[in-house]
Amino acid sequence: MDDLLRLDDRLDGDQRLIRDTVRSFVADRVLPHVGDWFEEGTFPARELAPELGSLGLLGMHLEGHGCAGTDATSYGVACRELEAGDSGLRSFVSVQGSLAMFPIWRYGSEEQKSEWLPRMARGEAIGCFGLTEPDHGSDPASMRTYAKRDGADWVLNGSKMWITNGSIADVAVVWAQTDDGIRGFIVPTDTPGFSAPEIRKKLSLRASVTSSLYFDDVRLPSSAVLPGVRGLKGPLSCLSEARFGIIWGAVGAARACVESAVEYAQTRVQFGKPIGAFQLTQEKLAWMYVGLAQAGLTALHLGALKDAGALEPRQISFGKMANVRAALDIAREARSILGGNGITLEYPVIRHMNNLESVLTYEGTQEIHTLVLGEALTGLSAYR
Ligand SMILES: Cc1cc2nc3c(=O)[nH]c(=O)nc-3n(C[C@H](O)[C@H](O)[C@H](O)COP(=O)(O)OP(=O)(O)OC[C@H]3O[C@@H](n4cnc5c(N)ncnc54)[C@H](O)[C@@H]3O)c2cc1C
Repeated sequence: MDDLLRLDDRLDGDQRLIRDTVRSFVADRVLPHVGDWFEEGTFPARELAPELGSLGLLGMHLEGHGCAGTDATSYGVACRELEAGDSGLRSFVSVQGSLAMFPIWRYGSEEQKSEWLPRMARGEAIGCFGLTEPDHGSDPASMRTYAKRDGADWVLNGSKMWITNGSIADVAVVWAQTDDGIRGFIVPTDTPGFSAPEIRKKLSLRASVTSSLYFDDVRLPSSAVLPGVRGLKGPLSCLSEARFGIIWGAVGAARACVESAVEYAQTRVQFGKPIGAFQLTQEKLAWMYVGLAQAGLTALHLGALKDAGALEPRQISFGKMANVRAALDIAREARSILGGNGITLEYPVIRHMNNLESVLTYEGTQEIHTLVLGEALTGLSAYR
């Protein structure tokens, strides 16, 4: 599809190379199979992780320890192209790089970094991020999972819910209350007392593994705690990294829906002409494209701010809220253009549409980001 506003002209040579590399990886390795993965409720993480690692996509915006060390816009472009394949694929890469590797990279000891980051960057070790609990989602500060000191050790008890990659992970970064506030712990998933059953019956993000985590007297050495951070700012800083990827990823999912709808509208004939020749269809397509291009501009601008070291959490909330809403609206409109075919996995649209329902909720719900913007505009907090 034509890039009408020439937005990708803003990308430099390296960023375009990353775009083209990830786009062809998705075309070859993901698009031929992802409808089946979605239908079967599977994601071949062990197979794909080393390939994603060899492309430098795992922890790609981190420096050192085997990570590619790209700029933020490159990371965004990669997320856009991955999510044009499927939000589950982008979620895997976001969780690995931004939610599991980032806290180790940013707050970990040298030993923790050298133990985990090179293997995670190569895709040999898979990570997950445990913040949400069954009774504490939007309000993680109220979490109940507790790590108590026992001599030199820590003993972890509690549970987490909705954890991407949970049952396939080698390592979980778990956030828990302690006598000293919220701390982050590196928990190898073979530690006795740890279990991670998969959550089934999902109708969204089906090509992604989602699990509960249970900690039953999980004994950890003193070296398991992330030394560099205390309090909720630890997990929130990781979420800021991952949300930045979602801002771009949503553009990819939306683009896939627009492309599918345009192609369908050009070839599906009713009343003797292509449905794309009807003005009602053209109006839908025109507004879908406006939404897509505006979301793309937002992503580019926030990428430039992040590369300048100037991106603020409330700007990330703006982007997550605006771009995921735009992508979901575009997916729903595309679904209607495809008529009955819009509800099958023969086309990517309903898969993206269902996935985006999760993207709207995770990493801060639409409502919570609305409250962040409301507070930014009024100076008044409306969370409680
Ligand atoms: C597929 C999937 C993967 C996920 N992966 C992870 C992961 O890897 N790690 C992880 O830690 N978590 C993960 N999550 C959890 C996700 O971040 C939470 O679902 C999300 O934060 C919302 O929490 P909740 O589901 O408990 O909803 P709740 O917090 O119970 O919210 C329910 C509704 O109430 C609204 N609401 C809540 N508080 C307010 C308020 N103050 N004002 C107005 N409205 C409010 C919400 O916006 C929402 O509409 C995942 C979720 C999904 C669906």
